[in-house]
Amino acid sequence: MTREEELQGWVGADEFYNKYEPKEILGRGVSSVVRRCINKKTNQDYAVKIIDVSSEKLTSQEIEEICDSTAKEIDILKKVYGQLNIIQLNDCYESKVFFFLVFDLMKRGELFDYLTEKVTLSEKETRKIMRALLEVVQFLHSQDIVHRDLKPENILLDDDMNIKLTDFGFSCQLEQGQKLKEICGTPGYLAPEIIQCSMDENHPGYGKEVDLWSSGVIMYTLLAGSPPFWHRKQMLMLRMILSGSYDYSSPEWDDRSDTVKDLISRLLEVNPEKRFTATEALAHPFFQQYIVQEVRHFSPYRRFKVICTTVLATVRIYSSYRRVRPATKEVIMRDPYAIKPIRKMIDGCAFKIYGHWVKKGQAQNRAALFENTAKAILLSLAAQPDYLY
Ligand code: ADP
Ligand code: MG
Repeated sequence: MTREEELQGWVGADEFYNKYEPKEILGRGVSSVVRRCINKKTNQDYAVKIIDVSSEKLTSQEIEEICDSTAKEIDILKKVYGQLNIIQLNDCYESKVFFFLVFDLMKRGELFDYLTEKVTLSEKETRKIMRALLEVVQFLHSQDIVHRDLKPENILLDDDMNIKLTDFGFSCQLEQGQKLKEICGTPGYLAPEIIQCSMDENHPGYGKEVDLWSSGVIMYTLLAGSPPFWHRKQMLMLRMILSGSYDYSSPEWDDRSDTVKDLISRLLEVNPEKRFTATEALAHPFFQQYIVQEVRHFSPYRRFKVICTTVLATVRIYSSYRRVRPATKEVIMRDPYAIKPIRKMIDGCAFKIYGHWVKKGQAQNRAALFENTAKAILLSLAAQPDYLY
């Protein structure tokens, strides 16, 4: 390679570094790192996906594959530019060892993290997210694009909590009637026909329906807080997927409507021909319920619990009302510690003053701090001087 060719290989990287300043890491993939970056002129924040194609860690075949898939990713991102719920590619640069893809920055991060924080989502919130996701899938499929890696880690949230689909690294533009055979995606989200393809050479291949299966897995996960197909042993997990074995046995499902379960079962349909399309899913009654408040059907156990809590609370309120005595000046003077709000105030002050004497984790008498006279405190301290540091 001549010196000129060598320098030529770095042009893209130079252009990127002239325009942007890379900052902290936001996420990592197999061969990419995503960093926040700042446009030096406008001072605006972006996210840059830096794809490493240096030869040190990879074979030449792997490099070729990454270059091909990145070129495909860029091509598809350009085609879908302007779609409301898809991440916008603003700039891209290519150098000898790196690709730089500059996206709008999603400060709220992944739907995955949001779910981890909330544990489970309500049907209402799930409806908003799933409607947007299925509309994106409907749009992609109308363009014969299949995403192949739908999962909460690849769904980002903007400042107004709208979803933005990202990571088109496995996406593919299909020719008329074309079927795919490649095994790609993330294990828990793999459609059964992708697994069948890997086991049977004569399998006719799979198509766009795989995105609807992963949408079903996402929907189940948002409502249950855990995925429908999971097993410590990967082989057993794949077997669960192949037979479509999942259930609604966890307590999170007790109060979920039959409508939502019905939609999930239409998406987690093992036969891709019978599986709902995005258009069919969007026409499902689950998405028609947003105006009228949904009637929640409590399970018998939950209903019993609510009744017991209500009765107990009523009894407690009534009996405390019966016990109420007017707090006159005389009562306060005679026995201030007998009156709950005053007792709390005294306890609070005592803890503020003497709390630093309490040694955590050792045999101690915290109650001594709350005796109602200073004399009692001093006596107890005298008896156990090791309260003091
Ligand atoms: P990979 O193909 O390596 O999985 P992704 O495009 O999915 O790469 O990005 C990896 C992670 O980086 C995402 O899961 C997310 O946490 C973070 N990320 C990607 N793009 C953005 C963005 N525009 N704003 C904020 N975080 C992002
Ligand atoms: Mg990803």
